[in-house]
Amino acid sequence: MTELRGVGIGLGVAQGPVARMAEPLPAPADTASTLTPEEERSRVADAVAAVARELEQRGAQAGGAAQEVLEAQAMMAEDPTLTDEVDARIAQGKTGEYAVFDAFASFRDQLTAVGGYLGERAADLDDVAQRVIARLRGVPAPGVPDPGHPFVLVAKDLAPADTALLDLDKVLALVTTDGGPTSHTAILAREKSIVAVVGAVDATRLRDGETVIVDAAAGVVTADPSTEDLARAQNRADARAAAASAPITDGALADGTPVPLLANLGDPDAAAEAVELGAEGVGLFRTEFLFLSASQAPTVEQQREAYIKLLSAFPGRKVVARVLDAGADKPLPFLNDAHEENPALGLRGLRALRASEDILREQLTALAEADAATEADLWVMAPMVSTVEETEYFVALAREYGIRTAGVMVEVPSSALLADRILARADFASIGTNDLTQYTLAADRLLGSVASFQDPWHPAVLRLIREVGEAGRAAGKPVGICGEAAADPLLAVVLVGLGATTLSMAPTALADVRATLLQHGLEDARRIAEAALAAHDAASARIAAQEAAATTKETQQ
Ligand code: PEP
Ligand code: MG
Repeated sequence: MTELRGVGIGLGVAQGPVARMAEPLPAPADTASTLTPEEERSRVADAVAAVARELEQRGAQAGGAAQEVLEAQAMMAEDPTLTDEVDARIAQGKTGEYAVFDAFASFRDQLTAVGGYLGERAADLDDVAQRVIARLRGVPAPGVPDPGHPFVLVAKDLAPADTALLDLDKVLALVTTDGGPTSHTAILAREKSIVAVVGAVDATRLRDGETVIVDAAAGVVTADPSTEDLARAQNRADARAAAASAPITDGALADGTPVPLLANLGDPDAAAEAVELGAEGVGLFRTEFLFLSASQAPTVEQQREAYIKLLSAFPGRKVVARVLDAGADKPLPFLNDAHEENPALGLRGLRALRASEDILREQLTALAEADAATEADLWVMAPMVSTVEETEYFVALAREYGIRTAGVMVEVPSSALLADRILARADFASIGTNDLTQYTLAADRLLGSVASFQDPWHPAVLRLIREVGEAGRAAGKPVGICGEAAADPLLAVVLVGLGATTLSMAPTALADVRATLLQHGLEDARRIAEAALAAHDAASARIAAQEAAATTKETQQ
């Protein structure tokens, strides 16, 4: 048995024979063209247009997030700057194939040099180039193999065009050697609930036909597994399938302690699905969606309509809206205009809103009006709060607008360490484990090269969460979790053991978390949390919690 490590997407586990994605087309030779520059230009223009239309067509067929991605890729293909670069090379006498290859490669290098989100778009650009070159040569574009039976797809990185139309009855899991947690492979795997491990560098060793286990929860691909490994993986897959079809009940521990399970939403249109999957309310409504594609802030009326739409889906239920979290990975031209060397440590979240207070005031106005017009129980919180003074500022401002329940997100270690003082002023705290992990481990959450640090199981992160949990208990105030950590079923048990009173997650994670909470009482959850806290690093904390959780099950038998 050999284990290959990467970044797991989601919680699934799957097994099956490997089928590798075809290698990219060989690079075109730098030979002089026998055609005139006009002829080359027109061949390339036809090929580019055909590729762009094909990408749009695939997008329309796939719908959802895939459509946006493919349309963006089609625009990339027809980008006028890129066209100029290709034309300039053709004017020097290069062939169309070589001009496309070379111009796209130089753009790719620029994106890679920028790194982060843009760096991960480099794969999209490569895919466009391959498709155009294949068309110019009259050969099929490299794509997903079809071995005639279900398979584990192993690739360097998947282009959005490939993931969008994957036949989910055939693809048991995805493994890529490149790509980080924010690559398109990761985003689309999440959306389609495909078991995936990305950035598994050593997966180049896997051969067609060999059986592997892909464990997304652990971020591990097991080559050459034993019969016992295969049986264990199958049991886990069966347990997940059973959780998915179990009756939907309110979140609770085995001893009946309620743990409301809430949804993380970024768009009011997703509310209906969340309700269907049993969300008992919303623990994090990311309001950025209204602002991100805009060149200026939406009006109070536009915002009010969107908030009313969301709140109407949850009559009598709690809905926690977060005021705009701009900056760092979500820059907005009208809020974050100054260049910052280190934007994650700059003017983001509440800091940015405070610098443009009119935007914050308008948002609070729209939220308060939507609250008055609907039956939901609206709570409002501020992102990226790092001091007691910021807490006082936000709570006072929210009260001015009649917001009844005003709280703060704990995403920065300073807020966790002073949670007692913060909770003396705020009505509730909600821990954003994505940023809390980023800031505790000093590892950019978008950077594939430091992805291994971005693990909320790290005992340093757990200790900070315990601080907040204890402060909440002492003050009698709710402490929610709304980062990705709440979607990891065993970590969810640990978080409750550390004092979390509600858990909020992507709706697709609710069933797994609901099923796992039902296996442990509060005392067990505290004991499992202690075991994780006593570990030295994230990997051993996870193992310690698994072992502690297994003893609960033994004593129950
Ligand atoms: C977090 O940081 O954990 C969080 C929930 O906020 P976001 O992911 O939107 O930054
Ligand atoms: Mg955050």
